Amino acid sequence: MKKILAVILFLTILLTACVKQAPQEAELFAMDTLMQLRIWGGENDLSAIKGEIVRLDTLLSATGPDSALAMLNKNGRADLTPELNELIQSALALSEQTGGAFDPTVYPLVCAWGFPEKSYHVPEKAERTSLLQYVGTQHLHINGTSLTMDAGTQLDFGAIAKGYTAQHCIEILKEHGVQAALLSLGGNVQTLGSKPDGSEWIIGITNPENPSQAVACLRFSGSMAVVTSGSYQRYFEQDGKRYHHIIDPKTGMPADSGLCSVTVLAQDGATADALSTALFVMGLERGTDFWRENDDFEAVFIVADGKIYATEGAATMLNDCSFTEIKR
Ligand code: AMP
Ligand code: MG
Repeated sequence: MKKILAVILFLTILLTACVKQAPQEAELFAMDTLMQLRIWGGENDLSAIKGEIVRLDTLLSATGPDSALAMLNKNGRADLTPELNELIQSALALSEQTGGAFDPTVYPLVCAWGFPEKSYHVPEKAERTSLLQYVGTQHLHINGTSLTMDAGTQLDFGAIAKGYTAQHCIEILKEHGVQAALLSLGGNVQTLGSKPDGSEWIIGITNPENPSQAVACLRFSGSMAVVTSGSYQRYFEQDGKRYHHIIDPKTGMPADSGLCSVTVLAQDGATADALSTALFVMGLERGTDFWRENDDFEAVFIVADGKIYATEGAATMLNDCSFTEIKR
């Protein structure tokens, strides 16, 4: 009898452990992309996180009719909530850090190319030149919590919103005692903690030539933001030429830096997101110099001929591909 009880007890413990290790999962479509959420442990249920994502989508979308950002762009001024103030301050700092390669004021040009409404066309050079006068963070004036923009200047958080949102969700999950999480918001992946079974996180890097497949994968333990910017993610073709959605704020043209994609690994989601866009604009050479001057991220570059380059730290995590390591 004692033996049977011991077996039952053992099985109950085993079952409880298995149940504890089973993640909660959810999917939603927001910020123009499919999002997948998976968490282990904690008392949080995923509907709270989904609610936050939908709220931030409404707040930060430049196109949504009721979004705070659309109102700001329409009125040219706004009283900033602490949340919007925090996001704008980090966007300004990242724009300065990247020498303007990431620039949240590039929106007039993004519109001229027709990306927000998906009504694509190639703007004339004269139109691009004229719109460039509105681009640049010097056109934003912040006084306490009040923001005013010079006439014609408009903001776009498309290059930072998903990373900011993922980071925000991770903070909430931490507060709720969640031990491990994997949030995949389109090209933005963010992990929290380590998987209960002790195995590593495995994050695929999309093959720019064939986006339904991975060209390599990153393996690591612990918390990390992994964000990819790629010319395959959004583009249109005209007269046999491809025009993608990452604009060089200096020229007003889709960045022609010789890269197909850049994946950034960093501790903070918004930073990883803004830097992946900025490094795409910079290209391999300038991006490498930038990495040597900054120690808060690692990167994997894929150039037009398919060759892969990984910074020292990223190289230790990169698997299933051949690549060239970039040394400090
Ligand atoms: P991502 O996919 O994160 O690289 O961000 C690209 C999106 O950010 C585009 O769809 C635009 O809305 C916007 N964007 C394009 N170029 C830039 C840039 N150089 N700096 C900041 N935002 C940009
Ligand atoms: Mg980005």
